[in-house]
Amino acid sequence: MNGILNLKNKIVGLITKDTTVESESVKILIVVRVLLLSVMACFFANLIITWEVLDTKGYGFCLLFFLGSLGLMLLTYRVRVRLMAYIFTAGMLLFIWFNLIWFGWWIGVQHFLIPILVMLFFVGYDRYVLKMWLAAALCLLRILLYFRFHTAQSLYEIPGSREDALQIINTITIFWCLTVISYVFGKTSREMEGKLVKYNEKLEKEALTDNLTGLANRRRAMDYIQQLLQEGHTDSFSLCICDIDFFKKVNDTWGHDCGDIVLKRLGALFREEMKNGNMPCRWGGEEFLLLFPGSNGDEARVILMKIRDRIKDMVVEYEGDEIRITMTFGLTEFDFTKDVEYSIAEADEKLYYGKNHGRNQIVF
Ligand code: GH3
Ligand code: MG
Ligand code: MG
Repeated sequence: MNGILNLKNKIVGLITKDTTVESESVKILIVVRVLLLSVMACFFANLIITWEVLDTKGYGFCLLFFLGSLGLMLLTYRVRVRLMAYIFTAGMLLFIWFNLIWFGWWIGVQHFLIPILVMLFFVGYDRYVLKMWLAAALCLLRILLYFRFHTAQSLYEIPGSREDALQIINTITIFWCLTVISYVFGKTSREMEGKLVKYNEKLEKEALTDNLTGLANRRRAMDYIQQLLQEGHTDSFSLCICDIDFFKKVNDTWGHDCGDIVLKRLGALFREEMKNGNMPCRWGGEEFLLLFPGSNGDEARVILMKIRDRIKDMVVEYEGDEIRITMTFGLTEFDFTKDVEYSIAEADEKLYYGKNHGRNQIVF
């Protein structure tokens, strides 16, 4: 049992061994290796089916093909991916050609052109014109092969039942090759898609979050208000604009870094106190917009009083000093008959009223 497992791991290791060039994708090599092994297996099956049909020259050619396939397999560990895919294609074209000469049109070996075409499409992501030409060339080749071989006498005469067996084996191999290619490259695009979705989510989150405080930014705040309005929040909804009192002094005395620490601490405090759909946002600079959907002014005021007191009592230690701040709040109930800007301007006016009347207060 252990021996089988080891062998399996060794084979998987050999098939998935990385390319020599760091920037190249190993997927194409994996496909080429699996395809090579599949064609070799198919080749052996064909050999068994056509046993005693071939002559010495035929068996000699078989041996040559087998050695050639082995050589190609070894090459996959040495040459660049794109070159390998083209060499493999050339090898496959020879395989198709000789099979058609030996056994004729009706064993279906010409259909190997299809997995080759699909594989070539995944080699090099950018060369679209070349790919179109390749597709056209393979299509033309397929038509030429038809006219050259469909009525031609094959070199070896195979009894009908054996011909059916060859057709079946070739068909199975071709479908298997297509499945492998689709699986490997489908997996890549699925992985890429997954990565992109995650990356987009991250970008979107970053675009809606304030870097310094981790709070929602102005854009997110406006989106949230629009979302609440669309959801039909027409009962009660309060909002508040607040601003740190004499914040310039903090920056001037202890420096901008210290000011940033204060802003971060405030962000954390807002997050702790604003729960259940209430949203704190950094409106800009040292101004914050606090949203209280579902709360009327009095209810929001209760929460704000606690916030104001906590801020008043908050001590930020910086270089041995203790920094204390206060904030002024302008609170208003959302006016659903007007646009968003109207209510925000109203809260702003109240804030400035508070600034002009002693600060450290909630104006409602
Ligand atoms: P007032 O009580 O009237 O609001 O006085 P104030 O000193 O706070 O005045 P104002 O609101 O005009 O000053 C805002 C200051 O906030 C000025 C600016 O340097 C500072 N500030 C804005 N954004 C940041 C920031 O991200 N970090 C730091 N450290 N300071 C900021
Ligand atoms: Mg200000
Ligand atoms: Mg201020």
